[in-house]
Amino acid sequence: MNNKILVVDDSESSIEILVELLGSDYDVLVALDGETAIEIANEDKPKIILLDIVMPEINGFEVCQRLKGSVCTKDIPIIFITAKSDEESIEMAYDLGGIDYVTKPFKSKELLARVKTQIELKNLITSLEYLSSHDTMTGILNRRKFFELAALNFNKKIEKQYSVMIDIDRFKNINDLFGHHMGDTVIKKIVNAIDSHVKEDTLFARLGGEEFVLFGQYDSKDSIYDEIEFIRKKIEDLEIYEDKGAKISVTISCGISFYNDKFTSIDELLKDADEALYEAKGQGRNKSIIRNS
Ligand code: GH3
Ligand code: MG
Ligand code: MG
Repeated sequence: MNNKILVVDDSESSIEILVELLGSDYDVLVALDGETAIEIANEDKPKIILLDIVMPEINGFEVCQRLKGSVCTKDIPIIFITAKSDEESIEMAYDLGGIDYVTKPFKSKELLARVKTQIELKNLITSLEYLSSHDTMTGILNRRKFFELAALNFNKKIEKQYSVMIDIDRFKNINDLFGHHMGDTVIKKIVNAIDSHVKEDTLFARLGGEEFVLFGQYDSKDSIYDEIEFIRKKIEDLEIYEDKGAKISVTISCGISFYNDKFTSIDELLKDADEALYEAKGQGRNKSIIRNS
């Protein structure tokens, strides 16, 4: 896990003390001025920042304000570490989004303890965010996070957006014949097969049970159809064996829908894809069907 701390101070001797103190436990990055600090924060994504206030050019308050105002850096916790001990400065530091305030000269053990606490808190938040946005069994996005991200993208009204609804065919039979445990294995293998073929910027989520969704941008409608057909065939060809050695055959049905300006929400695009999926089921399953092409 990333263990980077960015230390920002215009005094080289202060930086040296902090590097000495933190260097054995953390990967310490340093900046002697605000602009460099903002650059490093964007580039290296440190886990936390220790920020001096009084610095030439831009001061620590402004650095904090700029970091908190940018989506890339707003979640990095900032501990102010400064000789300023007046109440107004402390109040300002917290108002601007600082998470802790340490006055110089500081006690080494106290500073280390405060840094450790904030790092642990940050790690906890990161894992909670992961858990609340991913499906536990497969590791792909869950329904809630999918709708959050897809709606954000959909609302940009990009013309070439598409969605695919994917459902495992006669999955109940697999559970009935081979047991729930084998059913879970089949879901994971199918997810891996799909995941290894979707582009990195395409959203891939488990909507629930044995139903999945893709949402992304396309270059040409034909290429999407070909890609989905490729995935469908790949799943048809998966070699999955149950404990006693019998082969488990599994297929998926896919409904594809392309953005069209009559859609006013992501739900409408997905509903269209869902109707295409039902058509695929109706036509005997193991098929991909396109709507509004
Ligand atoms: P269709 O081709 O029409 O989609 O038929 P189907 O059997 O796949 O559809 P149906 O909706 O009747 O059954 C889905 C089954 O998926 C029922 C449910 O018990 C099972 N299921 C849902 N989630 C899980 C899971 O996480 N693990 C396992 N093993 N089974 C699951
Ligand atoms: Mg099914
Ligand atoms: Mg289903």
